[in-house]
Amino acid sequence: MAKTTRKRTPARQPPKASDVRPPVRHMTVIAQDPSVRQNGRILTARIAVPAEDLLPGPLGYRVQIVDYDSTRQYFHGRHALPASYDDEPTEWQRGSPQIVNDFRFHAQNVYALVMKTLARFEFALGRRLGWSFDNHQLKVAPHGMFDANAFYSPVEEGLVFGYFRGMSEQPVFTGLSHDVVVHETTHALLDALRERYLVPSNPDQAAFHEGFADVIALLSVFALPEVVAHLLDPVKGKPNSARPIPRAKILPKALRQSALFGLADQMGQELDGLRGSALRRSAEIEPADGILDEPDFLEPHRRGEIFVAAVIRAFIDAWSERVLSSGVERQKSFPMANVAQAGADVADALATLWIRALDYMPPVHLTFRDALTAALTSDTQVRPDDERYKLRHHLKAQFAAYGIAPVSTAGTAQSDCWKPAPVNLRYDRVRFESMRSDKDEVFRFLWENREALELQTEAYAKVLSVRPCQRTGIDGFVLRETVAEYYQVARLTPDELAGKRIKVPPAFLEHLKELQAERAAKAAAKPKANATLAGAEPAPDQDDTGPTPAGAVFDDDDFVTPVYGGGVLIFDEYGRLKYHVHNKVFGSEQQARLQYLWEEGLLKVKAESAGSRAARLSTLHRLRAIDARKWPSEGW
Ligand SMILES: [Zn+2]
Repeated sequence: MAKTTRKRTPARQPPKASDVRPPVRHMTVIAQDPSVRQNGRILTARIAVPAEDLLPGPLGYRVQIVDYDSTRQYFHGRHALPASYDDEPTEWQRGSPQIVNDFRFHAQNVYALVMKTLARFEFALGRRLGWSFDNHQLKVAPHGMFDANAFYSPVEEGLVFGYFRGMSEQPVFTGLSHDVVVHETTHALLDALRERYLVPSNPDQAAFHEGFADVIALLSVFALPEVVAHLLDPVKGKPNSARPIPRAKILPKALRQSALFGLADQMGQELDGLRGSALRRSAEIEPADGILDEPDFLEPHRRGEIFVAAVIRAFIDAWSERVLSSGVERQKSFPMANVAQAGADVADALATLWIRALDYMPPVHLTFRDALTAALTSDTQVRPDDERYKLRHHLKAQFAAYGIAPVSTAGTAQSDCWKPAPVNLRYDRVRFESMRSDKDEVFRFLWENREALELQTEAYAKVLSVRPCQRTGIDGFVLRETVAEYYQVARLTPDELAGKRIKVPPAFLEHLKELQAERAAKAAAKPKANATLAGAEPAPDQDDTGPTPAGAVFDDDDFVTPVYGGGVLIFDEYGRLKYHVHNKVFGSEQQARLQYLWEEGLLKVKAESAGSRAARLSTLHRLRAIDARKWPSEGW
């Protein structure tokens, strides 16, 4: 809502220790991006973020804005943000076009959206979240580089937002786009929660990082009633919230047209429609059963768009049904304010559902079917009654339309959910209290029950995290759980893999033989060279090292391939295991994974990899590559 005058607040008194300080404060942000306008003004929104007393930067307890431009090697200084909503300049709240050039406002925009996203995750998961690196504060550069790009960098412990010259020759700032800021923040949070999702595994997992970041970003935009109302009624003049919307415009097809395509058309007009077209591409993917098997959709970015399409279509269906069911039968029209609020509420609930689902997803080798099953299971736990928005119903229907069904657990009480944990588990040697926080205690539980839980003792196992959580449903229902995550790894030669009934791709085996032959040839050539140079006899032990080229025995440590497994353990408030979602290290699925990795050029043995640093950097490249598709970027 636009404000015309700036309220003056009385001079601030130092707070007394007894003062109760509000947990949240409000801040003005750009609702989507500067190109979404109403009556010539940039559409802004008022969002709630966790309250804190910021130092100039702004520097807070979880985020540090570093306004350094690495292209120009220039520091724009520390920005002191208004201490309260009422202290904000009038131009910010009115969406005056000048705010595009106000770097202090830019700092507030990225700070508020990163904090809002963090708060959204913390609320959904019912606990505090860290970042993926060992530091409390995420660094954010709102004008980090002259480039039409934005990315998350775990190495630099932060988010970098670029800027560039747009079509109209005016600078375009990626940090002013709501969806871009939330998208990058989501990458950072997802990486903190599921560090192994960046490791190559299967086509779905690669697609999920991108698809999930897009889903949270889009739902975050739709969760603003200001945006929804604007998309439904982009009229000139004063928006009239009492204006009725005819029933025909609330049917799913019409809503897809107005809200989805409307947003796609307005998003990033400066970018020649490139970013908007990412949403458009998702929205245009018509449901088809075998779509995931089509070669086009094996490419991770395209595949991620299917995930986005299924979730966003479910959102539209749930929203439409929510509005239509709120009226009497055959009601001809609905008040705009109610339609907009319903859209925002459904978007908010759906974002919460998907974030919550992360805890129920396996820590390695995620598939879309796993993701859907995790969403249905975790939502059933905290929101047993689906009547209010029918989110589970609509998700199931839309995922099914794209050929994605929950992992089958036929014969159990809730067939769309994960199979409950085995009942024959022993708890007598572990301490309930310690299980809520202690990795060693959880490992002991796992070890004591290794047979029932199918822990593979020949592989290395490690408990990665133990997190107690308290989740609140939309109806105030409180659920207490503890989530523990572990992973397993075994590094095996092809022969050892065969011993575990995991067949490696024949072409990979051929490749290894060639590698081996090369090494043998080198080893054979080396002593001769030494002999010529130094005039000495080759050392006797150098001659017979290395297997013969013809042999297919890879007993050398350099020819091992890692195979991963692992799981999540969900305990109830009494310390009993409810669910165990896991993948076996020596499971039969490994064969297909190895085949996929080989085809993608991602299957490497130790002899070929340049160590972990290279692996870390390739992660970065991947992330940049992921985002580059949205931007007319020259780099990756
Ligand atoms: Zn991305």
